[in-house]
Amino acid sequence: MERSSASLWRKIRPRYNLVGNECKNCNTGYFPPRVVCRNCGRKSKMAEKQFSGNGTVYSFTVIRTPPDTFKDEAPYTIGVIKLDEGPMVEGHVIDTGAKLRIGAKVKMAFRKMYVEDDEGLIHYHFKFEPL
Ligand SMILES: [Zn+2]
Repeated sequence: MERSSASLWRKIRPRYNLVGNECKNCNTGYFPPRVVCRNCGRKSKMAEKQFSGNGTVYSFTVIRTPPDTFKDEAPYTIGVIKLDEGPMVEGHVIDTGAKLRIGAKVKMAFRKMYVEDDEGLIHYHFKFEPL
């Protein structure tokens, strides 16, 4: 069984594919998806929405003292990304060697997140990389 295959993780929706939803009444996007639009309440018309993964760095910080899960990755960057379609998403930002700045354009990338110590199971998740 190829349980550590990235292709299996890619198929897990919506968390790993940036599938949220959008209110067709006011065009506000949500990730994770919401049952009711914050703007429209009972007039909400929610529909599934696949976000592009393109966005802008809204804020970021460098983690130098990580939790055990990411102990081999430090230092690493966590960012709040404002997707082009509106929602804010938190995620790892891949270090490309370029100096990251607020306002930098990024895109989603599907990457290895961590490896479980006991069984070696590889976990994948979306991250963001500077363009
Ligand atoms: Zn709405």
